[in-house]
Amino acid sequence: MSQYHAPLAEMQFVLNELAGLAQISQLPGFGDATPDTASAILEEASKFATDVLDPLNIVGDREGARRQDDGTVTMPPGFKDAYRQYCANGWMGFAKNPEYGGQGLPQLLATAVEEMWHSSNLAFDLCSMLTQGAIEAIELRGSDALKQKFLPNMVAGVWTGTMNLTEPQAGSDLAAVRARAVPQGDGTYKLYGQKIFITYGDHDYTENIIHLVLGRTPEAPEGVKGISLFVVPKVLVNDDGSLGARNDVHCVSLEHKLGIHASPTAVMAYGDHGGAVGYVVGEENRGLEYMFIMMNLARFSVGMEGVGVAERAYQRAVAYARDRVQGKPVGLDKGVGAAPIIEHPDIRRMLMTMRAQIEAMRAVAYVTAAAMDNAGRHADAEARQRHQAFAELMIPIVKGCSTEIAQELTSLGVQVHGGMGYIEETGAAQHFRDARITTIYEGTTGIQANDLIGRKTARDGGATARAVAGEIGKVAAELSAHADLSLKAIGARLAEAAVALGTAIDWMVPAVGSRPRAAQAGAVPYLRLWGLLAGGWQMSRAALIAAGHLRDGAGDPAFMKAKIATARYYAECLLPQAAGLTVAITEGGESVLGLAAEQF
Ligand SMILES: Cc1cc2nc3c(=O)[nH]c(=O)nc-3n(C[C@H](O)[C@H](O)[C@H](O)COP(=O)(O)OP(=O)(O)OC[C@H]3O[C@@H](n4cnc5c(N)ncnc54)[C@H](O)[C@@H]3O)c2cc1C
Repeated sequence: MSQYHAPLAEMQFVLNELAGLAQISQLPGFGDATPDTASAILEEASKFATDVLDPLNIVGDREGARRQDDGTVTMPPGFKDAYRQYCANGWMGFAKNPEYGGQGLPQLLATAVEEMWHSSNLAFDLCSMLTQGAIEAIELRGSDALKQKFLPNMVAGVWTGTMNLTEPQAGSDLAAVRARAVPQGDGTYKLYGQKIFITYGDHDYTENIIHLVLGRTPEAPEGVKGISLFVVPKVLVNDDGSLGARNDVHCVSLEHKLGIHASPTAVMAYGDHGGAVGYVVGEENRGLEYMFIMMNLARFSVGMEGVGVAERAYQRAVAYARDRVQGKPVGLDKGVGAAPIIEHPDIRRMLMTMRAQIEAMRAVAYVTAAAMDNAGRHADAEARQRHQAFAELMIPIVKGCSTEIAQELTSLGVQVHGGMGYIEETGAAQHFRDARITTIYEGTTGIQANDLIGRKTARDGGATARAVAGEIGKVAAELSAHADLSLKAIGARLAEAAVALGTAIDWMVPAVGSRPRAAQAGAVPYLRLWGLLAGGWQMSRAALIAAGHLRDGAGDPAFMKAKIATARYYAECLLPQAAGLTVAITEGGESVLGLAAEQF
């Protein structure tokens, strides 16, 4: 049976060499995040992931969270104790504001740690992820009173948080939210309505749960401009901080679903017994705007879920491929009999595809996390703005592409196992099922792609997109001029793909305004093209750095050679897809829309 081990050497390489952890640790307030401290933190996190969370992953899948007859929700065996340890070790407040008890560490480091939680037990980590989102919303726009009342306990994990956006008629389109919030004249509101699909809407980890809820006040305008954000605790909190009466918010059922069985996905009823007491966050009617500020981080985190689950699927596939003996591999010595399947070229192709895409996605995500840190704290205003624009461009790519690729890679993980992959006991199928949600929640892939073509590409006339494409072109030129033949080959493929990306940007920028249906028809291929290129860019940078280390005798030579070999695989076997995607983007619109709706 495979056991999860965090890929520490790889994580350190990406943190230090590609994402620039040393520079991030120079930013104000991040002085503790030196590469040495980071290394110790990653070691600690990896132990918790391997020893505590990974063994519980399969338990959670089999047992699931359960709603009992008395309406309480119980978590699978072992989860409550793991949650207690998680909070005691300070992981909940890892990247949160020290003012409320957090450790204030950079997003870059939090990203690497978070990857381990996603790999070892995605369903467990969702509680923390949603709590972080709720903390962020209150911290960004809540009043001081709300912050003081709720944040310290949330940052410590004494109370958890949820995000209540979705209603039966309001999924991707939150303008359709109908939950009502009626002012009571004393600064509080009473909420009424139903929310569906609420992650960790109820559980037995903590006594209180702080729900963040989107709703409308009676006089609010229609559409997105009339939505407000409310804090609605499960149990009311007295002024002295003690717990008071039970609030009128109840989990009325849990969904039965394909994966992440240990994550309770709740239908929540607000106000069935007189009204749920709530407190507005910031100003009325600006709730959606606040949500979008924090949604960037939530979307990024879901992208990391894709990386994390794919990594776990890869590790399991490698372990099985080394162990399973079947068939004589072609082209090896005549004397070799049946051998482990890892010797078959097609198994190698699958493992290489998994490895290369995971490394690429990880690098893109960590580099984006570093940009988020710089956007918040860099001393130079122009640099802050540049990093912000880069992070905003990359977030739908991290979310959309990492999660889509995770579907393919967890499926390959099953394929490597043959029939045993389809049988639940190997665990490969769980990764495939768990990964499936990641392209759906926090905005589906289609919604990410629309964001990428509109707000992130066309709105500034393509300036940010072209600037990043230009950087990719520079790396391609540097590689192409290299004496080493492997690097030269990578450079040639990256240069071709970069031309394809340029063509796609040039087509997309005007099309968003002049041919919006054709632009949206090509939006997901455009997203995939960006993911492919962003990954190729980072793999190429990694290859250049690895070649430099080999020349200088720095680092582990086997690791550096593997970096170059993996980057070359990415360049030769994956990057050529860029040309095809560009045809689909620039020419596919008409055929996508070629049939009338009734012809389907
Ligand atoms: C397990 C799970 C956990 C969840 N957790 C939470 C949570 O904690 N809090 C919460 O509030 N919600 C949560 N959700 C809800 C989730 O965010 C929504 O399911 C998601 O946003 C999609 O909305 P929908 O299901 O209504 O699909 P729809 O919006 O009906 O979408 C259906 C299809 O239409 C496409 N589509 C819709 N509009 C467009 C458009 N404008 N352009 C192109 N394509 C479009 C979509 O891409 C999708 O393919 C969760 C859902 C699940 C399944």
